[in-house]
Amino acid sequence: MGEIQLVDAHCHLDELEQRGMPAAEAVSAATAAGVLQIVTSGDSPAENHRARVLAETYAGVYFTPGWHPNNGRAPSSAERRALRDLLDHPRAVALGEVGLDYHQRDGGAIWDRGEQRSLLRGMLELAAEVGKPVVIHQRDAAWDLLEVLDASPRVPTMLHCFSGGADFAQAAVSRELHCSFAGNLTFRSAAELREAVLAVPPELLLLETDSPFLAPHPLRGRLCHPALVRLTASWLASHLGMELELVAERSCSATRAFFQLPPP
Ligand SMILES: [Zn+2]
Repeated sequence: MGEIQLVDAHCHLDELEQRGMPAAEAVSAATAAGVLQIVTSGDSPAENHRARVLAETYAGVYFTPGWHPNNGRAPSSAERRALRDLLDHPRAVALGEVGLDYHQRDGGAIWDRGEQRSLLRGMLELAAEVGKPVVIHQRDAAWDLLEVLDASPRVPTMLHCFSGGADFAQAAVSRELHCSFAGNLTFRSAAELREAVLAVPPELLLLETDSPFLAPHPLRGRLCHPALVRLTASWLASHLGMELELVAERSCSATRAFFQLPPP
């Protein structure tokens, strides 16, 4: 077998920079670990802009401009146009993050669920219109999400930082949704995820870091960066009783097929 190659299917290089790790450093650490392609995501206009600049700067970096439900409001029509324009960028490989977040944070209000669903429907229509896949954020909203997806135009869809159990994974797989697992898959407390990942066939199974969050075991709690997707891949290989080479090869080809990435 040759060298291990991996792709980080989802991260936030801009937020990593804000936490003190320059993108140049993150990209070169990733390259050294065999992570030759990185998909960095934007959640808001400022982040989308920074993600575009990073994708224009580094050969292996692609970006997905989005509108996170935690913005707490729908984009204005000017913001929607700007998002649409970004999707025409040659290095914009999907629309996202978009999605539903019903998680109650301390003292924080949840954005109206109905408004979240209607924005998501609009975003799925936009993705269909521009012919790009979509990257979904979902928290405490699994079954509502499937309902919205079922009622919207079908576009290739990835559930980023998969959360849920085997039943939700099966429901996702039956709809051919791609399931992307982050470093929390490796946490000792993640019994649900350990079962869920077994329900996902290799062609739908992606790996991501969601950097700067969720550094995998044994670096849990530390700053997460794209190179660490290799730890999650190694963990998954032992969980599945497979060679790391094979897990890496399969997740790479699933990720490249989903985002239509050229060979590195
Ligand atoms: Zn993310």
